[in-house]
This record gives sequence, structure tokens and C-alpha cells, in this order.
Amino acid sequence: MIYHQAIVVGGGMAGLRVAIEAGAQVDTALISLVHPVRSHSGAAQGGINASLGNAEGGKDDNWESHAFDTVKGSDYLADQNAAEILTKEAPERIFELEHWGVPFSRTEEGKIAQRPFGGAGFPRTCYAADKTGHVIMHTLFEQAVKRKIKVCPEWMALALVVEDGACRGVIALELITGRVEAFKAEAVILATGGAGRIYGHSTNGMIVTGSGMAIAYQAGMPLKDMEFIQFHPTSLYGTNILVTEGARGEGGYIVNNRGERFMQRYAPQAMELAPRDIVARAIQTEIEEGRGFEDAYVHLDLRHLGRERILERLPGIRDICMDFAGVDPIEKPIPIQPGQHYTMGGIDCNEAGETELRGLFAAGECACVTAHGANRLGGNSLLETVVFGKRAGEKAAQFVRGKEGAQAGDGAVLEALEKVRGKIAGLMEAEGGENHSAIRAQMKEMMTEKVGIFREEKAMTQALGRIKELQERYRRAQLTYKGNKFNLDLARCLELEGMLEVAEVIVSGAIARRESRGSHYRLDYRERDDENWLKHTIARRTPQGPQLSYRDVVITRWKPEARKY
Ligand SMILES: Cc1cc2nc3c(=O)[nH]c(=O)nc-3n(C[C@H](O)[C@H](O)[C@H](O)COP(=O)(O)OP(=O)(O)OC[C@H]3O[C@@H](n4cnc5c(N)ncnc54)[C@H](O)[C@@H]3O)c2cc1C
Repeated sequence: MIYHQAIVVGGGMAGLRVAIEAGAQVDTALISLVHPVRSHSGAAQGGINASLGNAEGGKDDNWESHAFDTVKGSDYLADQNAAEILTKEAPERIFELEHWGVPFSRTEEGKIAQRPFGGAGFPRTCYAADKTGHVIMHTLFEQAVKRKIKVCPEWMALALVVEDGACRGVIALELITGRVEAFKAEAVILATGGAGRIYGHSTNGMIVTGSGMAIAYQAGMPLKDMEFIQFHPTSLYGTNILVTEGARGEGGYIVNNRGERFMQRYAPQAMELAPRDIVARAIQTEIEEGRGFEDAYVHLDLRHLGRERILERLPGIRDICMDFAGVDPIEKPIPIQPGQHYTMGGIDCNEAGETELRGLFAAGECACVTAHGANRLGGNSLLETVVFGKRAGEKAAQFVRGKEGAQAGDGAVLEALEKVRGKIAGLMEAEGGENHSAIRAQMKEMMTEKVGIFREEKAMTQALGRIKELQERYRRAQLTYKGNKFNLDLARCLELEGMLEVAEVIVSGAIARRESRGSHYRLDYRERDDENWLKHTIARRTPQGPQLSYRDVVITRWKPEARKY
């Protein structure tokens, strides 16, 4: 058994920021499926929001305006107190990153450069060309090393230890050896990222499977607002690698097969820079109504920006387009289609990252505070990881310090360890069943088809039935490779169980919510319905499946109004 006062699960931007904060006060270790800098945060391209007012046309920006854009972008489902904290604390967190060494792109005067992003009243997205996540991740990792945070890479958390209404630690598998070990702790902070890979056509990394959400859910924690899945308007046709919103922020056009900038019909003022839910639906509609190319994609045209600007501001995008689509955006338009991108919902927690369970905290994309509501604005997610990551780290450290000397016994930890070991032994011995990869592939395809950008009751009810069938098949799943060392077959099989449960929560919430709001668009209920549905979905695990209840949205100063762009 390994002991640390605080264990952070996840080495992405949220996990690192939590660890930096908690590690300054208590003995903290971080475990992560991959080396921290290989987390999905490193793939973030476009930037991170703060109302610094550095850009031309941005001088009048302020945090209230950023908060309002966030709330309006969320289709009024964000808790407004959370959106206020996110935006008010943004400048301080950005300057902190700058002082730690993040090489942001600069204005002529030498200030942090900012570009326009979707749904934003001012250009407020701070960036480092189109590699913002990469540079922030490296800087945060340096800061973690400097603070001597113990990092355990290539460990996969599989279960939480719960005893007497408190979290006592986490059980994890060391991938490189196959060893299953208990990490006992006074506080556990989940920072495991989103659940994107439950869908096909996703911009997310392969490891973004919602495993932290599943672990919390299986330990009795509710998941909140899971039906809200963001589809990014511009993923590269063929691979669904992301083409940053920064490409539109720099002035890119989206055009259909008639050469029309069709956003004119959907968001006449904001055009390509309307929020993602609106642009993604517009593109999907054009494709479905026959105005796309090959019934599958439309064009993102950057040619008018000119070679110099593309090379300076979007060099990574150019490389991606050339390597994966054989298209040089300096010369040709980029084929793009919407792709699953972000999980607005997550583990229910407050602004300090506290969950219902004492000693369990959550931060980053796996958490739902909720500042993004039904639709997140681009550039607000990286911001969430540092604002709420810092807060969760602070709170967790405070919690640990408050209970010093009152360490619990080892009984529950050892019991949880044996349970996980037994489960793995069972999988290793299983014979004659079905390989789990087919189950995963069918889940992804079905979620994209039936619970995607456009939704309706019949298809979603079918989806729910299919998930139950897939869960049944999963009970007889079998491994192909049974060795101990780096057994990814085992890892993928283990995580699939949680993916199916999280998928079930997404579908159940989506069927129940009979309205259209933000990313959740119902063909059978096309309007937003504030009277009945201005509320959060809370899903709890029961043996029969998720049990749903609802909670009021916190409104501080912005009354819900019609959302026009
Ligand atoms: C391609 C792309 C581009 C993006 N661009 C932007 C952008 O420009 N601006 C913006 O604001 N947002 C952007 N986003 C969204 C943003 O990057 C993410 O929401 C954010 O980085 C999530 O950070 P995180 O730390 O919560 O999760 P992640 O970075 O996904 O990290 C999760 C961590 O958890 C670990 N982990 C997961 N499961 C387990 C387990 N069971 N056991 C142990 N460890 C585990 C992983 O190893 C990883 O270290 C983008 C997203 C994508 C996919």
C-alpha cells in the first residue's frame, strides 16, 4: 500500500494545477494513465480566455462581459456564480502562467496577444500560435517538478475506496507491470478529463474515455448535466483531428458546395464566430440538405488570410492539414465536418471542487461546477482547469490539514484492493466470450448516430436499449492478451465497463430533457423551455440504471433571454 496525504488522479492541465496548489501545503502524489505532458490538454490549440483587453477592439472588455458571454453561450444553464468566478479570476491565472514561463504570442507592444473566439463580445482568447495547450502543459509540468510533486505515470485508477461516507484512497493498475496497488490518502482529487471517446468521430485523444466520471459514479457520486455533449464545428474530414476555432478567429470562412458563406442564414451577425452549438448544427444541416461535399463535409477557407498570417498564427493547423488530408490551407480550402469535442457535464461538485463525498474532489473536464451549462465557449475550458484546479487543490489541502492525526485504518482500503484484484483475475481467466473491442465500436457508432447533434425520442430510446444489450454482452467479454506487462487489452476492457455506464447516463438524461438547449437539440422539441427545464440533471447510479433528479440553476444577475447571434 502506498500512502500520500493527497492523491491527484490525472496529469492534464487540471491535475497539474491541482497538484501544484495542494503540493505546496501537503504531501501530494499524482497518478496518470500517461506521462502528464501527453494528456489531452497538450492538444489544445486555440487558446485560453481572460478579459485582459490587450487586443485592438478589446479595450473595453471586462470580466462582467466575459461572464455574460459565458452565461449566454451556456444557453442560460451555467450557474452564474460559477461563471462569475471563472471569469473574474481569469486574468490573475493567466498572469500567473505568464510568470511561470508560458511563451504566449505577443502584441506589437509586447503584451499577451488575444484573438476573437466564438460567442465572445471581445477578442479575449490568449494564445501561443496554435499550440497553446502544449506550451502551458510543459510550463505546468516544470512547476510540478520544481515543487517535487511525486508523479506516477502509466498508472490507471480503477476504483475509489469509500468508508463511512469518506473517500480513503484509490485502487490503481500499474500498466508497465500489471501490479494492482492501493493508494491510501486523506483526499483524492479526480482530474481525469472528458468522456469524448464514447462517441465516434471525436477530436479527443484515445485516453479520453470518462474513466474518472465512471469511477466516481460507481462509488455513488452523482453525474450532472451529462446529456450536454459538445460537437466542434470544424474537425478535419477523415480523421476528425481538430481544426481550431482560432482559424475562424483569424478570419476563416465556412462555405458550402455553392460557395456560400451559409452562416449568414443561421447567425447573420456573428457569422462563423457564433457559438459552437449553432455553427455545428448549421454545418450538419447544410450537409444533410445536400449542400455539402460528398454528403460528408463543407469547406473551411483560409486562403484569403494569406501565407504570412497562416504561417505565423496557424502553423500547426497547416501541418495537420497537409499530413492528414493532403491539403495545404494556403492554397486550398480545408474539408471539415462537426466532431464530438467536449463533455459539458461531469462529476457534480461546487466551486471549490468538493463533491458529496468527504475527501473527494474533482477538477477540469471531468468535473461539472457548472460554468459551461449547455454549451461551452471556446477558450473557457483551459481556463476552467487553472481557475477551478487551483481552487480544488487549495480546498483539498485545507481538508487534509484539518484532519491531521486522524488517519483511518487500512481495512476498507485492503478490501477494495482485493475486490479489484479479483475482478482482474476473473477477466484474465475468462474463456469463450466475445472480444470487448467490437462492443466498444458498436457503442461509439450508435452514440454518434442516435445521440448526436440532432436527437429525437425514438432513436434515443433505441440507443438506450442497445446500451443495455451491450452491457449484457460486456459481462461475457474476454481478453485476447493475458500477459501482465503493459496489457492495454486489459486496460481497454476495464474502461469499457465505465464507458457503457456513462453512455447510459448521457442517453437517459437526453431522453428525459424534452426541450432544446445549447448542444442538446431535439427535433421533437425544438424550443428551449425555461419553465420546465431551466434546471440541472443529476444522475445517480442504481442497480436498474441511472436515477434522475433535478436541481435549480443559480441565477445571479442575468435573466434568461432569447439567444441571438
Ligand atoms: C483537440 C482539442 C483542442 C482543444 N483546444 C482547446 C482550446 O484551445 N482552448 C480550450 O479552452 N479548450 C480546448 N480544448 C478542451 C481542453 O483542452 C480540455 O477540456 C482540457 O484540457 C481538459 O483538461 P483536463 O486536465 O481536465 O483533462 P486531460 O487533459 O484530458 O487530462 C486527463 C488526465 O487524466 C488522466 N487519466 C484519465 N483517466 C485516468 C485513470 N483512470 N487513471 C489515471 N489517470 C487517468 C490522463 O492520463 C490525463 O493525464 C481542446 C480539446 C481538444 C480535444
